[in-house]
Order: sequence, then C-alpha cells, then structure tokens
Amino acid sequence: MLSYQQAREKVLTLVSAGLKPPAAETVELAAALGRVLGEEITADRDYPPFPRSTRDGFAVRAPDIAKVPATLRRLGEVRAGEAFSGSVGAGECVQIMTGAPVPAGADAVVMIEDTELKADQVTIKKSLLVGTNIVPQGSEAARGAVLLKPGACIGYVETSLLGQVGKKRVQVYRRPRVAVLSTGDEVVPVDAVPGPNQIRNSNVHSMAAQVTLWGGEAVVLGNARDELGDLERLVRRGLEEDLLVLTGGVSAGKYDLVEVALRQLGAEFHFDAVAIRPGRPAVFASCQGKFVFGLPGNPVSTMVTFELFVAPALALLSGAPAPPLQFLKARLAEAVPQKTKLTLFLPALLEGKGSHVTVRALPWHGSGDVVALAHANCTLVVPDNVSELAAGAWVDVLPRRG
Ligand code: AMP
Ligand code: MG
Repeated sequence: MLSYQQAREKVLTLVSAGLKPPAAETVELAAALGRVLGEEITADRDYPPFPRSTRDGFAVRAPDIAKVPATLRRLGEVRAGEAFSGSVGAGECVQIMTGAPVPAGADAVVMIEDTELKADQVTIKKSLLVGTNIVPQGSEAARGAVLLKPGACIGYVETSLLGQVGKKRVQVYRRPRVAVLSTGDEVVPVDAVPGPNQIRNSNVHSMAAQVTLWGGEAVVLGNARDELGDLERLVRRGLEEDLLVLTGGVSAGKYDLVEVALRQLGAEFHFDAVAIRPGRPAVFASCQGKFVFGLPGNPVSTMVTFELFVAPALALLSGAPAPPLQFLKARLAEAVPQKTKLTLFLPALLEGKGSHVTVRALPWHGSGDVVALAHANCTLVVPDNVSELAAGAWVDVLPRRG
C-alpha cells in the first residue's frame, strides 16, 4: 500500500505528464483574486519611475552635511505628484514630501525630525551617506522587466502589482470544471427530510467548496444509487468534465460498486488504497482520458483525502504550480497514542499566545465526526512508524485552508 507521500507524488507525476496550459479568459482586476494568471506581466515603465523620497524632510547634497550642524539655504519645496524645476547646488536644499521625486543635484534626504527651519535657513543636525532615504529610479524593476509569470496565483500582493502596471483587465486561466458526484442508497439531498436511517448529502457540498478553494469550478451531479446502471450513467456524465471526483462506494462492502463501474468503463487504477486513517480506501484512476478520484464516503475521510490528493491535481489543472503540503511545527500539548501502521490525520487545535503555540488532538468519534472537525482548526499528522507522540514533542501540523 502506498504511503500518502507516494500517493500524492503519483498524482502530481501523472497529472503533470502531458499537461497543457488551460485556455485563458479576461476578467476585471476586481474579480481576479484567487485566479491563476494567464499572461506575463512586465513593468510598463521604471519602478519607481523617478528617484523617490521615502521621507518627509529636505533633499540635500550629502557632502554639504558631512560636518553637522550645517546650515543650508531652502530653495523651495516639492510635493508628491510634482517635480522641482531647478536643481540643488552646493549649500542648498529643497523641502520634500514622501513619494516626491528627488530634485536634480540632491543625493540624500534628511528626515524633517533631524532639521530645524528658520525662514529659509535649514539647520541639518545629522550627516547622511549618499542615497539615504532615496529609492533610485528603476531599482525595483526596470521598464520591461518580468514581474509576474503565467501560473502565478493572484492574491492581494499580485493584485497590487497588477494595479501598479495598469492592468484594469487581466488574462487568467479558465477554471477547470470538476464533476462532483456522491454515491449511496442512504443519501438524500440536504433540503430533504431524511428518513430515520438516511443521511443528508453533505459531501457534494464540502467537495464543491474544496473545488472552489483550489481554483476549480464545481459541477454538482448529485447522488448515484448503489447500482451499476445509475453509477455508470452519472460517471459517464462526469467524464465530460475536466476532472471527476466521487465519494462513497470505494470500500470493501457488497454495495461498494464505484471501482466495478469504473472498470467497466475502461478505467486504469493508479492506486486504490493509501496507508492513512481516515481515508484508506481512496482511489485514483484514469478513465477515458480523464482523471478520476474515488474518495471514501465518510465526510471526514472525504475532506482529508480531497486535501491530500485531489487538491494538488486541481492546482495543476488550473495552471498553478504543484503546491507543497505546508506543514507547521508545533509542540504537542498531550501525548497521542499510535496503534496502527497508518499515518493518522487527526482533528486538532492550535492554541496559544504570542510565540508559545501548542497543538492538541481533539476527542473525536472517527471519520464520520464532522462535529469534532468543526471544533478543530488544523490537522495533526501522526507518522506510521511511531508508537506514540509524546507530550512536548515537536509535531507536524497541517493548517486548514478556507
Ligand atoms: P461509503 O464510503 O459509501 O461506505 O460511506 C461511508 C459512510 O459515509 C456512510 O455510511 C455514510 O454515513 C457516509 N456518507 C456516504 N456518502 C455520504 C454523503 N454524500 N454525504 C454525507 N455522508 C456520506
Ligand atoms: Mg456507500
């Protein structure tokens, strides 16, 4: 049985092979957050476009203030958005505001706090090196320099850069369409009144939410009965999309027919079990040119295996780079026993003040217990090769996205 690292690696390798960049579409900058950039972004001019003062104060010639106090003659002022028409000669200075262009001749800016102004005579109380408090023209980026490459995920920082270079509209990759399908005779829609032994279909909704978080567009196909005809019909429909994700019906039960249905449709299985709990029966296959995931139906298993295996596939299909699993290290508050040979992914709580953060596994009732999961804010990872994690140990934690 594959470890979760091996299974994830397999997903990344197979999905990367033969991957083409998605088609691009244009969106308004205000709608670009969370999208994947589909074009190269270059600097439309030098950044900064002029030598920019980073302080309110006086633009001076550094040699003039090598000995302090020094008294200079104030020629005038320059505000942000303006330029000073003259130039600063020996013994002279110009009052300057943050963000304004440094006048010709000046090579340093003295902070207002280190000066005293009387009429047009400025006493400078501090010597400065050439260049102090000035960002040279083009030093952040020269005109034409590449600022962002296709595949960059657009967060608020990228939004700022796009805004700086005037991209009111931006090319992004089309989101991959992900068919989401649940299975199970006991499953009813969330707006139905369930019979005493039925359960509501939370999985299609959690999967759709995770699809959205990872940059896809969810196409919710609903629920298939545990019967080959219905399963095959909906799987065929799902294979029309870029990716198909199913839940339920992948365990060893008599009515777990997902693998049978996929096999009848010609699927090739890359794995059908991973050494993890929850989520052991997770399936990854190729079928009719598309990738298919079959996730176990217990809701916690569904969510955990989605994050581990579906998310990286989805990131790649959306044109983004392969995402690393971003572990945090935290100190364990209370010992956690490990009685299996499986890697455990336990609902846990990161808590603490300032830099003293600990993590605690929460009591839970197994892979159906979404209530416990809702009290957690992270996942504690217990390796398969230990007999316990001791209190006070540094342990691996996966923060929750979204
Ligand atoms: P399965 O993987 O099909 O054996 O399902 C395991 C358990 O997960 C079932 O007994 C249900 O309690 C639960 N389950 C299955 N499908 C769903 C679903 N779509 N939404 C919520 N819970 C589900
Ligand atoms: Mg089932």
